[in-house]
Amino acid sequence: MREYRQLNPTRQVCDKNFGICRLFLTFATYSSIPKYDMRRYFVSSLFLAFCVTLCATVDFDTHFSDNTLRLDYSFCGDRASQQVFLDELIVSEGWYGRRVNLDRLLLDGNGQVIVTDTLGHDTLYIYSFSTLFQEWLTYEESTRVRRSFENSLLVPFPRHAVDVTVRLFDTHHRVTACLTHRVNPSDILIRHAGERHERWRYVLRNGDSKEKIDVAFVAEGYTEREMGTFYKDCDVAIKSILSHEPFKSMSDRFNFIAVPSPSAQSGITVPHDGKWLDTALKSHYDTFYTDRYLTTLKVKNLHNILAGIPYEHIFILANTETYGGGGIYNSYTISSVHNSRSLPVIVHEFGHAFGGLADEYFYDDMDECWYPADTEPWEPNITTLVDFSLKWRDMLSPSALQSIPTKADGKEVYTRIGVYEGAGYQSKGAYRPVQECRMKINEAPAFCPVCQRAIRRMIEYHTDEQ
Ligand SMILES: [Zn+2]
Repeated sequence: MREYRQLNPTRQVCDKNFGICRLFLTFATYSSIPKYDMRRYFVSSLFLAFCVTLCATVDFDTHFSDNTLRLDYSFCGDRASQQVFLDELIVSEGWYGRRVNLDRLLLDGNGQVIVTDTLGHDTLYIYSFSTLFQEWLTYEESTRVRRSFENSLLVPFPRHAVDVTVRLFDTHHRVTACLTHRVNPSDILIRHAGERHERWRYVLRNGDSKEKIDVAFVAEGYTEREMGTFYKDCDVAIKSILSHEPFKSMSDRFNFIAVPSPSAQSGITVPHDGKWLDTALKSHYDTFYTDRYLTTLKVKNLHNILAGIPYEHIFILANTETYGGGGIYNSYTISSVHNSRSLPVIVHEFGHAFGGLADEYFYDDMDECWYPADTEPWEPNITTLVDFSLKWRDMLSPSALQSIPTKADGKEVYTRIGVYEGAGYQSKGAYRPVQECRMKINEAPAFCPVCQRAIRRMIEYHTDEQ
C-alpha cells in the first residue's frame, strides 16, 4: 500500500539547533559504506569517532522513568502550508519502546520527534515516522480544503523537563512543519491513563519487553463472540510474518500480544459498497478514494485501547474477506485476514510499518513524481541514484555495477540483485533491487536480499546498542 507521496515544496524552517549530536544522527542514518570507497570511509570514520567522543550513549534510567509519555498532535493544513498543533499529553504505565540507540536514527522517515534537554544541547530520544496527513497532501483534495489528522507519538516519560520537537518533511527532506514545546514531568495536567486492558495476552513471549520488540495485534471488526476467531487469526498472521526472513531467524527478539478489542458489529466498513459498521477502531476502506486502501484515522482511540499494554508496534487485524490493508512507518499496520491473498499482504504491510520499506511496484501511466530526481529517498529499498552508495551498491557484483540500470530478463527474478528501473509507483527515475520482491508482488515468496538486510538492521537497531 502507498504510505506516502509528497509534492509540496513549501518550506518552513525549524530553527531548533540539535548541535553536533544531530549531525551524528544524520550520518548514522546512512551506515552502509562501500568497501571500495575508502576515502569516503576514512573521512567518515574520523567524523564518527569525533561525534562518538562528544555524544556519549544516552542512559535510559538517567533521563527517563519506566512510563510512556504519549504526545497527541493535530497535523493540519493543505498543500500550501502545514502546521503541527499540540493536543494533549498522556502518561501511561510502562515503557515498551526502544531502550537502546536512544539518540540515533536508522531511517529519516517523513517526520521525526526529538526529545532534548532544555538547553537543546543533547538529544535524549528520537524516532522517525510517516503519516497519512503527508500522503493526503499529494491528493487533489489538499489543494482546496484544509484538514487535520490525529497523530499520537510515544516517547519514554522524562524525569526532568525536556523540549520536544516534531517536524515533518517533504520528499526533498525539507522541513515543512515544525513545533517545539516544553514538557515538565510534574505538570498536573498530564492526563493519567493506562488502566491495564483486562484481557490482553501474550500470543508469543520470548522474554522481558525491555529487551524484546513488542508487537500488539488489535482486533477490528470482531464481535465479542468472535474473539476465538481473532486469536486464531493472530496465530496465522504471526506465522506468516515469522515464515519470512529475517523475521524467521530473529524471531526470538519479538513478543506478540493479542488485544481482543470488541466491536459492536462484525466486519469492516466498505464505503464503496455503502456499508458502514460500528467497529472498535473505526477503520474503513476507500482511504483517499482508493478502494483497497484500508486505514483508520482515529489514532487517539487506537492508543486509548492500548494504554498500559506492552506495545511498541501496532498490527490491526481486520475481520473481513475484502482485499486490502495499509502500513504506515512507525505508526501502524492494518490488514484484512480472511481474503485468499491476505497472508502476503500482512507481511507486505508490516514491511512498510516496521521496516520503513517502500513499495517496489510502479504504474506505467503514473504522471506524478513520487520521488524527485534530485533527492535520494530515505527508504532503504529504492533509489533515485542520487547517492546510491547509501543503498545496496555494496551488494552488487562488479559486473552488475557496469550495467545500470539492470535489464529485467525474467531470470532469477527474486534473488539477482541489480538496479531495476521502476519502483515507488513511478516507471522512470526510481529503481528497485530485484525484479520481484514481497514489496512488489504478492506472488514473491520472500523479501528480496536488500529488504531483508534493511529489516535485519531495523531489528538490531531496536535491540542492540550500536
Ligand atoms: Zn525488496
